[in-house]
Amino acid sequence: MNIHEYQAKALLRSYGAPVSDGRPVMKAEDAKTAAGELDGPLWVVKAQIHAGGRGKGSFKEADAGEKGGVRLAKSVEEAAQEAKRMLGRTLVTKQTGAAGKQVNRIYIEDGSGISRELYLALLVDRQTSRVSFVASTEGGMDIEEVAHSTPEKILSFSVDPATGYQPFHGRRIAFSLGLEGAQIKQCVQLMGILYKLFTDKDMEMLEINPLIVTDKGDLKCLDAKMGFDGNAIYRHPDIAALRDETEEDPKELAASKFDLNYIALDGEIGCMVNGAGLAMATMDIIKLNGMFPANFLDVGGGASKEKVTAAFKIITSDPNVKGILVNIFGGIMRCDVIAEGVIAAVKEVGLKVPLVVRLEGTNVEKGKEIINASGLNVIAGDNLSDAAQKIVKAVKG
Ligand code: GDP
Ligand code: MN
Repeated sequence: MNIHEYQAKALLRSYGAPVSDGRPVMKAEDAKTAAGELDGPLWVVKAQIHAGGRGKGSFKEADAGEKGGVRLAKSVEEAAQEAKRMLGRTLVTKQTGAAGKQVNRIYIEDGSGISRELYLALLVDRQTSRVSFVASTEGGMDIEEVAHSTPEKILSFSVDPATGYQPFHGRRIAFSLGLEGAQIKQCVQLMGILYKLFTDKDMEMLEINPLIVTDKGDLKCLDAKMGFDGNAIYRHPDIAALRDETEEDPKELAASKFDLNYIALDGEIGCMVNGAGLAMATMDIIKLNGMFPANFLDVGGGASKEKVTAAFKIITSDPNVKGILVNIFGGIMRCDVIAEGVIAAVKEVGLKVPLVVRLEGTNVEKGKEIINASGLNVIAGDNLSDAAQKIVKAVKG
């Protein structure tokens, strides 16, 4: 689960990390009051969306020369004006995809004078199964590009969970970033704060880009992105409360209400499968046959008819879906429950695309009977490979 920059900065502030003073704004008419509460003489007006690259992004239907999603203003009036201009419009950045994201919230911040822009991140490192720090002198820009063309400019190391964060970790980062004097002490302290916040809140990712040295020589977190482990959110009601459902894919949101393991993808074959491994194999075999999956979906072991119905409805609600492949190997999940769910959903929403069903395992005969008796135009698949070939053939005509 991701949160907005202004929410991430409030968390940083509460842990004692240096951030600028700022005010979130949801309604245009509140912008002036919010800006007026900050000192100036520089204000920064920032679009709040769950995507990076806002500064270099551009708004749809932008005027010639219009700036992106991060704008500097020299007065309260100008800051309020910029906030009003951005609210409600669609911002397209490298990370949003071509569709962009609607800006429903703005963050107005006290502007900082910048002397250096650095990069800092913490993440769960799959290779070491530990929390890793990533630091670079090349902040403010695309870290992927830095990693690609000048990997030697990135320092990365993991922290042994038995010792946790130690001051030498912070000093290592400080020296690699070329920090001097009081900045070294600030860095050691800040890295400790970030590590504590990261582990306290079960984060997956914490990115400060840029971490700056201000014109007065102090470290400050100028941007903040945080991602949290969805499986641990139940332990953090304070974080769960920060969820902004308007930022999420509506299909994934609907799936989460039914506790379904669903991930939206860009392909054209909707998949309903039980078991994550079989779901991955099904996606692979669709690709092998020349098409792409529209989603990952594991309906799980003990899914009810209602859950299966909900899943099928989510799949059919996706306008990209040109065909559906149901692939069930019934173990704990019974084939008849799947069949009933599919039939119930089709009765409700209709079936406008070809449907291939492959059932195997517990209660398979009962499942097939239910589907046959329904009179639905379902293509039966004999095995995984046969089913994938049949759905691709049916879609391609
Ligand atoms: P992003 O583009 O979504 O990553 O948004 P950032 O918060 O990282 O802002 C983009 C860029 O705007 C930064 O790299 C800075 O160069 C600039 N910027 C952001 N805040 C300030 C500020 O307070 N003062 C100044 N001078 N520039 C800022
Ligand atoms: Mn940034």
